[in-house]
Amino acid sequence: MTDTYKHKGMRRKLSESLKTKGIHNAAVLKAIDEIPRHLYLPAEFEGHAYDDKAFPIGEGQTISQPFTVAYQTQLLNIKPGDKVLEIGTGSGYQASVLHFIGAVVYSIERVESLLTKTAKLLKSLNVTVHTKVGDGTKGWTEAAPFDKIIVTAGAPSVPKTYITQLKIGGILVIPVGKSENIQKMVMITKTGADTFDTKVLDDFQFVPLIGENGWAGKKSD
Ligand code: SAM
Repeated sequence: MTDTYKHKGMRRKLSESLKTKGIHNAAVLKAIDEIPRHLYLPAEFEGHAYDDKAFPIGEGQTISQPFTVAYQTQLLNIKPGDKVLEIGTGSGYQASVLHFIGAVVYSIERVESLLTKTAKLLKSLNVTVHTKVGDGTKGWTEAAPFDKIIVTAGAPSVPKTYITQLKIGGILVIPVGKSENIQKMVMITKTGADTFDTKVLDDFQFVPLIGENGWAGKKSD
């Protein structure tokens, strides 16, 4: 698939619509404007790639809605060179947004077949992301500490691992909810070795974060 003027026009409309929904960070809006989201979706959704909607990407997983990607990224307040851990690589779109705005991205995905496909795509697009397959609820010990951590699946509670793997002054953005279907976006700033500031924000709907410090998952998972 190629990137055409029609795609670029649709992206511009999408970024304009995100502005009206409260996305004001110029770097985030530029990333939405520039990254060809249609390449991160199954071909049958190409015509809808710039709708503000989540879509299936296989293995029962989804590419997040552009508003959600922009909202989480805006909360992270990325500075060029920030070392960022993403949990849930999925399609690679969120990782690409982080990369585009200057982050050094580490991303963990639990579904190996998804990651294999996504790693290939990211390479073809010259997007450098350090990836690994595994249970992201344990974080990435060897690469820690991180300036920012973003979780792109819904957690039942905040895994302590993430606070431990965050630098002082660092930010964690994670959707948390007692039900697997609805979460509140939570933003935690680590203010000291054992202190942090927590903000509970808006409602979102993510697929579940499955793992040792997340949801149990089904027998087939
Ligand atoms: N960030 C993704 C994107 O840009 O397409 C959206 C991902 S989707 C909403 C959530 C992803 O989290 C799924 O691909 C799922 O397999 C993954 N996931 C769920 N639990 C996980 C875990 N414990 N560790 C790593 N990935 C996990």
